[in-house]
Amino acid sequence: MKNLITYLLLTFLIVNCTSKKQESTVNKEKTNDFAIVIHGGAGTILKKNMTPEKEKAYQNKLEEAIKIGHAILKNGGSSADAVEKTIQIMEDSPLFNAGKGAVFTNAETNELDASFMDGKTLNAGAVAGVKDIKSPIAAARKVMTNSKHVMLSGEGASVFAKKEGLEIVDPSYFFTERRFNALQRIKGQEKTEQDHDDKAAFYDADIKNSKFGTVGCVALDKNGTITAGTSTGGMTNKRWGRIGDAPIIGSGTYANNETCGVSSTGWGEYFIRAQVAHDISAQIEYKNVSLKEATHNVIQEKLTKLGGTGGVIAIDKLGNIQYEFNTAGMYRASMNDKGELDVKIYKE
Ligand code: ASP
Repeated sequence: MKNLITYLLLTFLIVNCTSKKQESTVNKEKTNDFAIVIHGGAGTILKKNMTPEKEKAYQNKLEEAIKIGHAILKNGGSSADAVEKTIQIMEDSPLFNAGKGAVFTNAETNELDASFMDGKTLNAGAVAGVKDIKSPIAAARKVMTNSKHVMLSGEGASVFAKKEGLEIVDPSYFFTERRFNALQRIKGQEKTEQDHDDKAAFYDADIKNSKFGTVGCVALDKNGTITAGTSTGGMTNKRWGRIGDAPIIGSGTYANNETCGVSSTGWGEYFIRAQVAHDISAQIEYKNVSLKEATHNVIQEKLTKLGGTGGVIAIDKLGNIQYEFNTAGMYRASMNDKGELDVKIYKE
C-alpha cells in the first residue's frame, strides 16, 4: 500500500512537471517576425569623456548601419545579407575598431579578425590575423559558403579572399592617426617587458584609451533564420599573432535557429575561456531559460566572476532582442519588425 502511494505520488509529480515545462515553451509567442541588433564595442564609455559631436557621430553611424540591415529584412531578404551589409558600414567607418578603424599591434601593423554563423545549418566561417582584406566580415562569410573550412588565417586567408573576388587593399589603408597615436601612448606607458605581460595593464591601457569598438550584428529574418557576425581589429598593442574571441565560433559569435544568435565584444581572452556566445545558447537549450536570463547569467555572473569585461547583443528565435554588458557603456542599436529604433551608448 505504502509502495502504491509512493508510486502514485511520483507519477503525479512527473506528469505535472512535464506538462508545466511544455506549457512554458508552447505559450511563448513570437515578439518580432524579424529583428536586428548591433554593437560597436563595449568599455569605459562615459558621458563625461564624450563631446556632443563625437556622441552624435557614433549615434548617426549606428543608425545608418542598422537601417541598412533592417531594410533588407523588411523586404524579405536574408539575415545573412543583413548582417554582412550592416557590419560593412561599420567596418568602413574609422569610428570603430574594425576594418578601416582597426587598432594597431605592438609591431605597428593592423591584424583583423572576423566570424560569421548561420543559425539554420550551424555552418560558420572565420578569418584571423588578416592584414589586407578590406572587409573581413565578407571574407568570413565566404569561408562559410565557399570553402570546406571554418577558419582561415593570415596570408592563406588573403589568397582565398582574392580568389573569391573580394577587395584586397594595401595594409596602409588601415592606418588612422588616432589609432596609431593610441598605440604610441600605450607603448610609452610600458617601461618593461613585464609591463607588457601584465594582463590587467594590457586591458586597462586599452579601455582607458577607449580602444574598444569591435562591431557585431545579429539578425532574425522572416524565414526564422538567425545569423550572427563579428568583426574587429583586436586589442591595441597585441603581440605575437594574438587572436581574440571575435573569430572564434562559440566565443565571439554563435547562431542557432533553435535558440538564439549572439555577438560579443570585450576582453577577448575571457570571452574565449568562458565560451560566452555558445554558453548563452546552451543555457536556453538545456535550462529552458529566457534570453534575458541567459545573457544575464553569462555576462553578469560567469564572465564577471572570472574577471572578464565586455558585453553581448543577442536575438532569440522568438525575436526577443537583448543587450547585456558589465562595462560603463556599449555602443548599440536595435530595430524590431515595427521599425522601432533604439540607439544607446551608456548604461541606462
Ligand atoms: N573582443 C575583441 C578582442 O579581444 C576586442 C573588442 O571587443 O573590442 O579582440
